[in-house]
Amino acid sequence: MTIASRIESIRLTLPPSTRLIAVSKQVSSDYIRQAYRAGVRDFAESKLQEAISKQQELKDLPDISWHFIGHLQANKARKVLESFDLIHALDSLKLAQRLDRLAAELEINPQVLLQVKVVPDPDKFGWDTDELLADIPALVNCKQLKIQGLMTILPQGLSAGEKLAAFEKTGDLAQIIENSSSLCLPHLSMGMSNDYPLAIRAGATLIRVGTGIFGERI
Ligand SMILES: *Cc1c(COP(=O)(O)O)cnc(C)c1O
Repeated sequence: MTIASRIESIRLTLPPSTRLIAVSKQVSSDYIRQAYRAGVRDFAESKLQEAISKQQELKDLPDISWHFIGHLQANKARKVLESFDLIHALDSLKLAQRLDRLAAELEINPQVLLQVKVVPDPDKFGWDTDELLADIPALVNCKQLKIQGLMTILPQGLSAGEKLAAFEKTGDLAQIIENSSSLCLPHLSMGMSNDYPLAIRAGATLIRVGTGIFGERI
């Protein structure tokens, strides 16, 4: 199957409220161009240096939105702010406060999502549900940031039913936060190649698909 035909078959399953983000980490800029020609405008990377060199190679495609989905290291935060349209994996209050300060210096209002672990997972970054609820007032005070929603990555080994429940829990959590704070959280970034149909059923607005578009990464 070609990149274009994989994209087309995913598209056929998307409701109008869900945007397809092509995860292009470890994928050449030639493949990114193929996806672009098939109509994709959102691409996600998880490593800063790799992303920057591809952005250079693709400068002639000005209407791409770049998403940062990796763990954000404090010392790279400024460069990430300058190079991406949406940061999916903001994962601690400390980092949020740092981004807020940097954004003020740069005079920008970066769009970010909060990474939450609705299923406990010691191997991943992000807030547990209770920790996130406790940090919301301080996050609201990060006035420079445009907090747009929640992002989640599920642990390995869940059944389809458990995955669906976890995605629904993520949506419920966004609702709880909206009802109890001034934040407005329209976006849910959830679902990858092997589980995006479940994420869509649970209301994902952004799905992050890598291998399902580009094939296995080497
Ligand atoms: C790599 C990655 C994806 C894409 O995974 P696939 O299984 O290739 O679709 C999605 N989200 C994040 C955060 C990733 O790191």
